[in-house]
Parts: sequence; C-alpha cells; structure tokens
Amino acid sequence: MANSNSKSDTTKVKAKSDAASGLRELFVDQLKDLYWAEQEITKAMPKMISNATSEELVDALTNHLEETKEQVTRLEEVFSSIGEKAEAKKCEAMAGLTKEGEEIMKGTEAGVVRDAGIISAAQKIEHYEIASYGTLASFARVLGEEEAASLLEETLDEEKNADETLSEISDAINVEADEEEDK
Ligand code: FE
Ligand code: ZN
Ligand code: FE
Ligand code: FE
Repeated sequence: MANSNSKSDTTKVKAKSDAASGLRELFVDQLKDLYWAEQEITKAMPKMISNATSEELVDALTNHLEETKEQVTRLEEVFSSIGEKAEAKKCEAMAGLTKEGEEIMKGTEAGVVRDAGIISAAQKIEHYEIASYGTLASFARVLGEEEAASLLEETLDEEKNADETLSEISDAINVEADEEEDK
C-alpha cells in the first residue's frame, strides 16, 4: 500500500522555522492574532450597526463597539504586563467571520430579517472571542502571568455578556423575522 503511506506523509504539518517551541511562544502568537482580530471587529461593527434596524440591536452593538475599543487597549496592557511589544498578526478566522457578516447583510433584505442575520454574524464573532480569551487566560495562568490572566478574564466576561445580550434580543427578532414572509 504505497499510496496510503505517501498520503499520511503529506498530512503531517511541517513546522515553520520560527514555529513556537513552548507554551509561552504559542501564547504570544495567539495574543497577536487576537489583537488583530479585535481591531478588525472595531472596523466591521460600524457597518453592522448602520444596517441594523431594531433599536435594541443598535444599542447593544453600539455598546459592544465601545467595549471592543477598550478591549484593544486592554490587550496592549496584556502585552506590556508580559514584557512584550503589542503586535498584530492577521487572524484568518476573524477575517473570514467579518467577511461572512458582509455576505449575510448582502443576502438579506433590510429590516427584521437582516437584523436576525446580523445577530447570527455577531454571535459567531463572540463565540470565537470567547474561545480565544478562555484559552489565553488558561495559558496565562499556567505561565504564571497573573496580571495578564486577570485582564484576559475581564474581557472574557464582557464577550460572554455580549453574547447573552444578543441571544436575548434574538428571541423576539427571530419570531418577527419568521412572520415577515407572510406579509
Ligand atoms: Fe472583543
Ligand atoms: Zn484569531
Ligand atoms: Fe485565529
Ligand atoms: Fe466581542
């Protein structure tokens, strides 16, 4: 079975020359990823806000945009607390999530249906952030970076709250969106 052998070889990932060799390096790499991601979100959210119609949704997104700007600054504090310079590295996932948000807006008529779409896009972003901050806070604790861990947990709580608020808002909006077609 020569074929299956060569196949398993090509599925093995070869590490780049600058690949992380320890948890601290992995931690710093992922911090850079998240720093890029948060900045990307501050650029994408204004468009989501101006395309939302529900006042509740507009308010929730506007609040979270302000929070997000503070989260960018908080990540700079995390970098400085571990003696690293704040640096952004493109997050492929967030680039994709914000692009998907654009597609969802283009793919829906303005109004309650688009609002439902915007909530779905926003919650996908929040979930990515929740996973990222949870992981990084855990890395920071293991690495003995207590200040970094606390800062990351502070943002983690904000992301969870944002997600919950969106879930609450979506209950009414999804029902309304379901009725929209029959009008
Ligand atoms: Fe955030
Ligand atoms: Zn990322
Ligand atoms: Fe990522
Ligand atoms: Fe968020």
